[in-house]
Amino acid sequence: MELLILGVGDAFTRKNFGTSALIRTDAGLVLIDCPDPIHRVIAEATERAGWSVEAHDIHDIIITHLHGDHCNGLESFGFLRRMTRANRPDLPLPRLHCTQPVADRVWSRLAPAMDSPMADGRRSTLEDYFDLRLLDPDTPSEIAGVTIRCRFTRHPIPTIGLLLEHGGITIGWSGDTPFESDHIDWLSGADLIVHECNRGPAHTLLEELEDLPEDLRRKIHLIHLPDDFDAEGTTMRALRAGDVLAPAN
Ligand SMILES: [Zn+2]
Repeated sequence: MELLILGVGDAFTRKNFGTSALIRTDAGLVLIDCPDPIHRVIAEATERAGWSVEAHDIHDIIITHLHGDHCNGLESFGFLRRMTRANRPDLPLPRLHCTQPVADRVWSRLAPAMDSPMADGRRSTLEDYFDLRLLDPDTPSEIAGVTIRCRFTRHPIPTIGLLLEHGGITIGWSGDTPFESDHIDWLSGADLIVHECNRGPAHTLLEELEDLPEDLRRKIHLIHLPDDFDAEGTTMRALRAGDVLAPAN
């Protein structure tokens, strides 16, 4: 399992893309969050990493939550796939994996832009663009050969962190979250942890992560960073778009 970092920025970034990543296994690709401008986000990071991937190759998308810097790319991704499928019916509808509260709200967020007349006279629905699959905190999911567990964080809207397990290796993904000891404990068994780090009550302060024990800090890679984040000011690794994380057994 390899994790390609697509974007490391926050909602206000002028120089990065929204925090997102692409998992690659021998069974497929999984996009973690879908910021705008998603096609450029994918193109730039995959070029840096030497991966040959575009949106048509991605059939699974996990949406951690509905803040725009994590989901605004769904519109463009969904439109392009729908138009392309008109000529390439072999392409599957992209599977959209999210928790029930996100599933309940995602179409009301997308519909003002994507609710379009269909050939049969009806208006399009979410199911014309995406194959919705529920993530359940009590039950692991298998996506592209990766066993995926999720846990709700204390972000202001329903948001999950992820544990991604494949071939005996586990990567933890904090999702957007204020510092929470129970969330850190849940992530701590992972071989590598991608943890958000930003300002304000909805996010985790660098100082809070700096207070963690050394063995945990060694695993933590920082993401969702403000543009003025000082990567030299911490021993934890600040991620950059194009980085590939591939922890080994
Ligand atoms: Zn957020």
